[in-house]
Amino acid sequence: MNRDIGRLEKTAYDLLVIGGGINGASIAHIAAKRKMRVALLEKGDFASGASSKSTKLIHGGIRYLENLEFDLVYESLKERSLQLKVAPHLVKPLPFVIPVYKGDKRPLWMMRLGVLLYDLLAGRHRVQPHKDLTREEVIALEPGIKQEGLAGGVIYYDAQMDDARLCLENVLSADSFGAHVANYVKVTSFIKENGRAVGVRAKDVLSGREFEMRAGKIVSTVGPWTNELLRLDSPGAKKKVRTTKGIHIVFKGQISRHALLLGSQSDRRIFFVIPWMGNSLIGTTDTDYIASPDAVKVEQEDVDYLVREARRVFPDLPFGPEKILATFAGLRPLVRQGGSANKVSRKHLYYEAPSGIIFVVGGKYTTYRKVAADCVDRIRRVRGKEAFSIYGGGAITETAEEAGRRSGLDGATVQSLMDLYGSRYGDVLKLVESDPSLGERISDDPPVIKAQLAYAVRTEMAQTVEDILARRLSLIFRGPVSERVRAAISSVLLKRQ
Ligand SMILES: Cc1cc2nc3c(=O)[nH]c(=O)nc-3n(C[C@H](O)[C@H](O)[C@H](O)COP(=O)(O)OP(=O)(O)OC[C@H]3O[C@@H](n4cnc5c(N)ncnc54)[C@H](O)[C@@H]3O)c2cc1C
Repeated sequence: MNRDIGRLEKTAYDLLVIGGGINGASIAHIAAKRKMRVALLEKGDFASGASSKSTKLIHGGIRYLENLEFDLVYESLKERSLQLKVAPHLVKPLPFVIPVYKGDKRPLWMMRLGVLLYDLLAGRHRVQPHKDLTREEVIALEPGIKQEGLAGGVIYYDAQMDDARLCLENVLSADSFGAHVANYVKVTSFIKENGRAVGVRAKDVLSGREFEMRAGKIVSTVGPWTNELLRLDSPGAKKKVRTTKGIHIVFKGQISRHALLLGSQSDRRIFFVIPWMGNSLIGTTDTDYIASPDAVKVEQEDVDYLVREARRVFPDLPFGPEKILATFAGLRPLVRQGGSANKVSRKHLYYEAPSGIIFVVGGKYTTYRKVAADCVDRIRRVRGKEAFSIYGGGAITETAEEAGRRSGLDGATVQSLMDLYGSRYGDVLKLVESDPSLGERISDDPPVIKAQLAYAVRTEMAQTVEDILARRLSLIFRGPVSERVRAAISSVLLKRQ
């Protein structure tokens, strides 16, 4: 991808999308595929907002059944099925065990009814049928959990994703259809003519340069920053988004064999313990947050809450700070409404301001394609019928060993490229074929070769060490990052300048 600020300035766009999280990326992708001249601006890195801070689930959201949001769950289950097909390298089926204890706020019969309903709603989009479990069956599946008071459980199926990369794949897809995309460009104000927004003033965060851009239509997909953008458009605008904070802990090592859905004892919330990147993801919290979205961070009390609840189910496990590999905090950009934070609906809406700017408000990651397609339909006033596909989601027609022989790499390295890049692993292999020194490994677990760093910078528009460690290769969630890896990344970034 080519980050060309001069081109952004010179082109008159049909559509300017502000915010490079999953919603902005997919709107840019679908609009470009429908032959619109599209620009996508992101003030940080792509997916650096909520879209890399999720629980990494492409799911119907079993807990929304409690709120009787059957339409949202149905829609999400349909989208889950589509995402499993279009991005098989990034979205994978995941079994969930729900152990239920005597005295739990949600008794066993309720859980059993819940998963039955979930599967019925999924219909032909079901991943695999759920199953009721006896106490002994739960213990056989998850021998590490507390057995005292265990009543039984259920197993059901959802999907796990790599949120940062799925967002990036949509940006890459947008670029492949001709959209002009740039990260580290912040929109600072709107240009208006007769009260209508006709463009923006923006700042290239990397160079400090300010410039103007023109577009027939502007869409804001800034998620948790929506209230800020609304006020940038009209100082007296009413807030439309309620931001609630959710944090996750990345615990060293795999705590459980399956993903676990657990009810907290201290409130009625549920939380997950999920095998993730060789470690375990524990989350999440859900608390109102009113400060600037830029300042969101993990507080000790958030960590204490999750550790306390996880320790209840795994009383024998050490949860000391040495076991916590990483933590991260994100904000849910929910449609503004009252009530307790975890009861607020995950539905989305489009708000068209008097200036003509469309604000996408609310939603969840899982339904991003639908949110984007509906948004583009709205702009074009015609329903698009194109098939949805993403950058690396094509079929892989050779084995890792075969591809490895061609490029001089071992099968394990090529397999890890296939897992990360899907059908575009060949892009990275081509770099090695043209310069064999790029085949050198800089890490063994997981295998990482120099070509991936070059690819992250040249093709995936990575600008900083963190872009690569957190969102291109996810290395900070796998284990301590070695000095060798950091030095190799710094050297690639330096050479680019
Ligand atoms: C803790 C947590 C767990 C979640 N778990 C799940 C889950 O498991 N499954 C699921 O389906 N959903 C989940 N969600 C919800 C999901 O993550 C969000 O709904 C989704 O990521 C929102 O995407 P977005 O593109 O609207 O916002 P974001 O990803 O936040 O993107 C908005 C972008 O706009 C940019 N921006 C802001 N201001 C400007 C400006 N002036 N100029 C340019 N760019 C700007 C920001 O930098 C940001 O990158 C979770 C959310 C949280 C917080």
